Amino acid sequence: MRIKGLIEEDFIQYKKPSMFIIFPTCTFKCEKECGRKVCQNATLATSPDIEVGVKTIINRYVNNPITSAIVCGGLEPFDAWDNLLQLVSYLRTHWNDDVVIYTGYKEKEIQDKIDILKQFPNIIIKFGRFIPNQKSHYDDVLGVQLASPNQYARRIS
Ligand code: SF4
Repeated sequence: MRIKGLIEEDFIQYKKPSMFIIFPTCTFKCEKECGRKVCQNATLATSPDIEVGVKTIINRYVNNPITSAIVCGGLEPFDAWDNLLQLVSYLRTHWNDDVVIYTGYKEKEIQDKIDILKQFPNIIIKFGRFIPNQKSHYDDVLGVQLASPNQYARRIS
């Protein structure tokens, strides 16, 4: 699958030590909606893609004793749906560790994909556009601060 990067041990995105996978594309819906260049991930769009096998990623994850979750973030994981589903499906053939997906979509915009992901246990999704200049808040599900009040995480399974 195509990614922009991979952090073997991340302690920022989730309350558990996680492997952080950086997905490669986004339609930049947050910028289109607010009419300004606000995406903090925008520079990633011009960085080179890395091609890596799903099995290679999962093997690296399971061989790291420090991490106990996988975080898929952005750019926008749901804009690379086939790869996201492939990754979760393969992981679930052996492991039920938490998978956290950071999306800028609202729940109703991706309900069909949520319904598919629900078949797998322990999936957590952080929903909502990035809106600049908002008050951040602590999200109990993730155990981290989120940038604006419209954003929240929910365990879907
Ligand atoms: S979904 Fe994420 S990557 Fe896409 S525009 Fe919003 S903040 Fe940027």
